[in-house]
Amino acid sequence: MSWTEFKREEIHLGGQWLGADGGKTLEVLDPATGERIGTVPEAGAVETRRAIEAAHAALGEWSRRPAAERAALLRNLAAAILANQEALVELLTREQGKPLAEARGEVGMSAAYIQWFAEEARRLYGDVIPSPWRDRRILVTKEPIGVVGAITPWNFPSSMLARKIGPALAAGCTVVAKPASQTPYSGLAWAALAEIAGIPSGVLNVVTGSAREIGGELTSNPLVRKITFTGSTSVGKTLLAQGAGTVKKMSMELGGNAPFIVFDDADLDRAVQGAMAAKFRNAGQTCVCTNRFYAQDGIHDAFVERLSEATRALRVGAGLDAGTVIGPMIDDKAVAKAEALVADATAKGGRVVVGGGRHERGFSFFQPTVIADASNDMELAREEIFGPVAPVFRFRTEEEAVERANDTEFGLACYFYTNDLGRAFRVSERLQYGIVGVNEGLVTTEVAPFGGVKESGFGSEGSKYGLDDYVSVKYTCIGGLGL
Ligand code: ADP
Repeated sequence: MSWTEFKREEIHLGGQWLGADGGKTLEVLDPATGERIGTVPEAGAVETRRAIEAAHAALGEWSRRPAAERAALLRNLAAAILANQEALVELLTREQGKPLAEARGEVGMSAAYIQWFAEEARRLYGDVIPSPWRDRRILVTKEPIGVVGAITPWNFPSSMLARKIGPALAAGCTVVAKPASQTPYSGLAWAALAEIAGIPSGVLNVVTGSAREIGGELTSNPLVRKITFTGSTSVGKTLLAQGAGTVKKMSMELGGNAPFIVFDDADLDRAVQGAMAAKFRNAGQTCVCTNRFYAQDGIHDAFVERLSEATRALRVGAGLDAGTVIGPMIDDKAVAKAEALVADATAKGGRVVVGGGRHERGFSFFQPTVIADASNDMELAREEIFGPVAPVFRFRTEEEAVERANDTEFGLACYFYTNDLGRAFRVSERLQYGIVGVNEGLVTTEVAPFGGVKESGFGSEGSKYGLDDYVSVKYTCIGGLGL
C-alpha cells in the first residue's frame, strides 16, 4: 500500500470508520511547508464515550482468549507494520517532519515493541504461594486491568502508541487511543494495521479531535480503568487530577531535562558522537534529548569546539529530502520557543558559537545551535528546550556535576562520559534519573524499561516490566480442601 492509503481521514470505533458527529474536522499540516496534508475528524466527548463503550464491549471476549491467540494476532500486527514500513515511514515524515531515516527507525521500533509484547503475552505468570493453612491454597494471577485510554504526543506518533497498544493487547485489555492533533495519521494507521492483522473490532479504537474533551471523557468515564499518557508534565498533572475521581491506574511518561556530563577522562570522540545523537535526533524534540551539556574544565574548550564543528556540518532540510539530518520543528510555536530561549541565554551572557536563530528555509526550520558559557540563571537550564539548541555549562568537580545534574524537578534520562569504572558506578548511582546512559547517547530499546522519576512520571514502558501497568494482581484463596 502507498502512504496515501494509510492517510485515514476518519476515526475508528468498534470496527467502523466514521466522521465526527457534527462533521467538524481539523487540518493536518506538513511542518516542512505549512501546506495542508488533509483533515481528520474533530471528535469530542460523545464520540469518545462511544469508543469507550465499544472497547468495553470487546473486552470480555478479548481478555478470555488464550494468551497464545493474542500473541499470534500481535505477531500479525508486527508483520503488517513491516510489510507496510515504507508507506508508514512516508506518512510519518510528511506529518511529523523527521528525516526518512529516523522515521524508518521509528516504524521499525514500533514493530519491535509489538513483537516483544507478542512474546511477553505468553509469560504473564502468576504465583502459587505456600499456604499458612493446611486446607487452603493461595493462587495469585494477573488480570487485564480493563479498558485503557492511551494519549500520545506528536514527536513519536507511531512508536509511542506501540509501547501502549502492545502491552495493553498482550495483557488482554482493550484500548481507546488519542493521538496528537499535529500527527494524527500515524495514530489512525494503527487502526488500519489492526484490521489487516485480524484483531477483532472494538479491541483498538482511535479517536482524534479536541484534547480537552477526549481527555476529559477518558479520565472521568468509569468504564476506563487505566490511563497511559506520554506528553508534557503540565498535561500529565491535569490528567492525574481528572482521573482521581474514578481512581484510575495511571502511567505517565512526562517531560525531561536531560544532563549530559563529559568528564576530563572521557573519550572525546565518543562523547561528541553521543552528544550529537542525544541532542539532535528529531531536531531535539524528544523527551530524552540532552537539555544541558556539562563539560569539565580540562576538556571543556575542546568539547565545545568539536561539538560546534559537528553541529555546523548538520544538513537541515525537509524530512523527505535525501541527506537531511535535521528536519523542521513541529510548528511555529516550537520555533518561537527556541528563539525566546536563545534570546534569554544571550541576554544573560551566553555565547552563540553556531546557529542561533530561524533557518533561511523559513516556516518551522531552526538552525542547529550551540551556546557556550551557559549558566544556571538562563531559562534553558530549567525549561525543556525541545529543539536543536545545545547549551554547554562548565564545571570543576564530580560532586558539582552530580549536584547540578540533579538540580531539576525532572528525572527522565541522563548521560555521562568517563573512562573511570569507579566513577561510572559512583555517578550513575547518584544520578536521580530513570534512564542512565554511560558512554552512550542512544539507549532506547524495546527490551529495556523506559520511564522516569520525580516529575518525569512513573511506570516503565517496554521490557518485562512493561506489562505490569496493564494488569491487576488477583489473590484467590481456595478453601475447604479437606487436606
Ligand atoms: P507536547 O508538548 O508534546 O505537545 P502535550 O502534553 O501538550 O505535549 O500533548 C501530548 C498529548 O496530550 C497530545 O495528544 C495532546 O493533544 C494531549 N493533550 C493536551 N492537553 C490535554 C488535555 N487537557 N487532556 C487530555 N489530553 C491532552
